[in-house]
Amino acid sequence: MPSVLVIGGGLAGAAAATHLARAGCEVLLLERERGPHDKVCGEFLSFEAQDELRDLGVDLQALGAVPINRVALAYKQAETATPLDFTGLSLSRRVLDEAVLARAIAAGAQVRRGVRATTLERSGGGWSVTTDTGETIKAQAVFLATGKHDLRGWRRPSGPQPDLLGFKIYWRLAGPCSLGSTVELHLFPSGYAGLQMVEGGRANLCLVVHKAAFAALGGKWEALVTHLRETCPSLAARLSGAAPCLPRPLAIAAIPYGLVQRHSEGVWRLGDQAAVIPSFTGEGMSLALHSARHAVEWFEAGRSAEDYQRKLARDLAGQVRRSTLASRALVAPIPQGLIGRLLTPMLMRRTLRTTRIRPSVRAGLADLSS
Ligand SMILES: Cc1cc2nc3c(=O)[nH]c(=O)nc-3n(C[C@H](O)[C@H](O)[C@H](O)COP(=O)(O)OP(=O)(O)OC[C@H]3O[C@@H](n4cnc5c(N)ncnc54)[C@H](O)[C@@H]3O)c2cc1C
Repeated sequence: MPSVLVIGGGLAGAAAATHLARAGCEVLLLERERGPHDKVCGEFLSFEAQDELRDLGVDLQALGAVPINRVALAYKQAETATPLDFTGLSLSRRVLDEAVLARAIAAGAQVRRGVRATTLERSGGGWSVTTDTGETIKAQAVFLATGKHDLRGWRRPSGPQPDLLGFKIYWRLAGPCSLGSTVELHLFPSGYAGLQMVEGGRANLCLVVHKAAFAALGGKWEALVTHLRETCPSLAARLSGAAPCLPRPLAIAAIPYGLVQRHSEGVWRLGDQAAVIPSFTGEGMSLALHSARHAVEWFEAGRSAEDYQRKLARDLAGQVRRSTLASRALVAPIPQGLIGRLLTPMLMRRTLRTTRIRPSVRAGLADLSS
C-alpha cells in the first residue's frame, strides 16, 4: 500500500508527487491520459510559476519556452499596452506537463498512465480508490489533483462566476508576425481572448465566452470564430490568413471561476480542486504549483488536510476575489467599454499586480503555526 496516492498528473499532482517522493514518501500517482495531451490553457507562465518549476528541476528554456515581456489589451479600435513587471514564459501544456511528470518519476514516485480513478471513499483510517481498470487501491493519504474534472461524489461548488465556457486552439499566423513577445487580451461581446506565441511558431488562442452568448450562436465553434472576426477588429487582423493547427478546439464547460475550497473533508485538495482563479491573470498554474508545495510541507509536518485547506483558502481568497471582480468586468458590456476607454498602462500594471500571489504568501510556506 503506498503511503500517499495522488489522483491526477497535471501540474499540481505531478509537483506534489515530486515533493512527496523527495521527502521520502512512498507515492503512487494515477493519470487518466495515456500520454502527452493538450489542455485548455492560455499557457502563460508567471514569474511565480517559473520559480516553482525551477525548484522542481524543470528547465523551461531548454523546453523551448517563448519569452513574454509585454501585455496589450484591445477593445474595438483601442489598445493599451504595458511592459510586464517580469519576463513571463509561454510553453504548451503538452510539453510542460510531461516535463513535470518526468521530475516526479526521477524523484522516485510511481506514475501510472491511462488509469482513471472512479471513486474515492474513506476506508478504516485511510482511503480506498477504485479505478476504471477495476482495481481497488488503498492509501493512507490522498492528494486530489484532478483539475477541471470532478470525481463522482466530490463535485466542487460552482463558484461566483460559473457562466463561462473556455476554448483553446493553436493557429499558424499569416505573414510576418508582429506578436513577438506580447501577450494580447482581446475583448469581444460576452468574452475575452488571450493570444500569445508558444514553441514551434504557433500562436495559442484561448478564450472564454458566456454560455448564453455561445448558445445564441447555435453552439458552434465556427459561428463563434465568425462572431470574433466581426466584433473584434484587433483579433480579426491577427487571424487574417491564419490557419488553425487543430481540427477542433479543446473546450471546457462550467469553469468554477472564483471558487476557493475552505474544507478538505480529509483529502489534500490541490490546484483547480482547491482554487480557481480567472484565466486572464495567468496565475492558475502558479496557484497549482504553490498549493502542491504548500500541501506537502504541511503533510510532512504532520498537520491535517483540514488545517492546510483553511490556511490555503485564507492565503488565496483576496487574490481570487479581486481577480473574479475584474473577470466579471471584462465580459460585461458597460464595464468593457469603460475599460477600453479609460484603462491606462499604469492602471493596467496595478490591476495585474493585485491578481498575483502575494510575496508574503509565497515566502510564508514554512509558517506552520497559523
Ligand atoms: C480558459 C483558460 C485559460 C487558462 N490560461 C492560463 C494561463 O495562461 N496561465 C496559467 O497559469 N493558468 C491558466 N489557466 C489555469 C490552468 O490551466 C489551471 O489552473 C491548471 O491547469 C491547474 O492545474 P491542475 O494540475 O490543478 O489541473 P490540470 O492541469 O487540469 O490537471 C489535472 C489532471 O488530472 C487528470 N485527471 C482528471 N481526472 C482524473 C481521474 N479521475 N483519474 C486520474 N487522472 C485524472 C487529468 O487528465 C489532468 O492531467 C487557464 C484556465 C482556463 C480554463
